[in-house]
Amino acid sequence: MQNDYSLLAPGPVNLHPMVQHALSLPMIHHRTPQFDEILKRVLSRLKTIFATNENVYIQSSTGSGGMESLLVNTLSPGDEVLCIDSGKFGERWAEMAKVFGMKVHVIKTTWGQSVDPQDVAAALQNNPNIRAVLCQATETSTAVANPIQKLGEIIHQCPQTLFLVDGITATAAYLLPFNEWHIDGLVAGSQKAFMLPTGLSFVCFSPKAQARFSEAKCARYYFDIRREQKANTNGETFFSSSVALVRALDVVLELIFEKGLPKHYAEIESRARMAQHFGPHLGLPLFSQAPSLSVTAFSMPSHIDGQKLRQHLEDKHNITIMGGQDQAKGKIIRLGHMGYIQPHEMERFFVALLESLRHFDPEWKKDLSVSTLKSELKAWAQNWSGE
Ligand SMILES: *Cc1c(COP(=O)(O)O)cnc(C)c1O
Repeated sequence: MQNDYSLLAPGPVNLHPMVQHALSLPMIHHRTPQFDEILKRVLSRLKTIFATNENVYIQSSTGSGGMESLLVNTLSPGDEVLCIDSGKFGERWAEMAKVFGMKVHVIKTTWGQSVDPQDVAAALQNNPNIRAVLCQATETSTAVANPIQKLGEIIHQCPQTLFLVDGITATAAYLLPFNEWHIDGLVAGSQKAFMLPTGLSFVCFSPKAQARFSEAKCARYYFDIRREQKANTNGETFFSSSVALVRALDVVLELIFEKGLPKHYAEIESRARMAQHFGPHLGLPLFSQAPSLSVTAFSMPSHIDGQKLRQHLEDKHNITIMGGQDQAKGKIIRLGHMGYIQPHEMERFFVALLESLRHFDPEWKKDLSVSTLKSELKAWAQNWSGE
């Protein structure tokens, strides 16, 4: 890959050079004092990011494995669950719950819209047997942020109901305090906001959720968190640890804590604000009615295919972003704000975006010159670094 390659997808993401280095170190065994020390530090820092004193568990699986873990450790076949489907990943979670024999109620939002908390309150009132509500914090397919804090307040009123949250593109990208927002199960993923390669998921359970571990009847072996709970008490993981990824995670967390968590969040937010400004400025409206801070989706004009545009960005400019999925295919493009992204990459992206739009429509935004755009981007970046 050339040096100027930018991976600006909403996961996987650009890796920091120090993370790349950590990934290339000689292997060590996971039952050694060196690794124990790393694991201990990592597990403690994960709690800080989740904003909780509960254990955060590391699983060697992609994010979807973490979603499965939340279900199988707290629920049983036949249980009623309410799944908020605001896009692809909401759909996936509902599908998963069905595979485990749960009775799934779905609240489906129009793509691009977040769920209305009142709809959730009403559904819970109408179905007092609902054992869990499942929701994406950021629905990555539509770049929508759901109102997790408000949902937490509502669900917290129901002693029988857990609030399970997919924070794969939220946790470590922006503040999503586990305890304070009354979340009962939270999953994060390594290749998104944790700025690592794919392969780890992180899960956390509230005391209310932990009380379900022994009564949950879903078949589970690898994802049975009780094994992990026991091993963690002894400062170990139950199965073999993914040493390379955990070591790289240690580097990521060191980088984040060195900088300070608020500043880390602020940098991601400033990229989101930049996207929210310059997308529409280049003639691409925001697709999401409730834009997330970790990913931004832009609506394409009807005469330019988003898939072709993203391909052109990759071929001509060496920048990877994502298009839309399913019903949004060709109609939107998605820019991720997580990972190791330097200010000049953001500037380069918007200049490349303007060129790409003009490649497909030479008349596009005719009154905006590339040099004007460049100075606007410079001014924006200066503001950003001056904060
Ligand atoms: C990426 C993503 C997933 C799936 O994660 P995998 O690592 O691909 O299994 C689930 N939920 C959300 C919100 C995601 O962004």
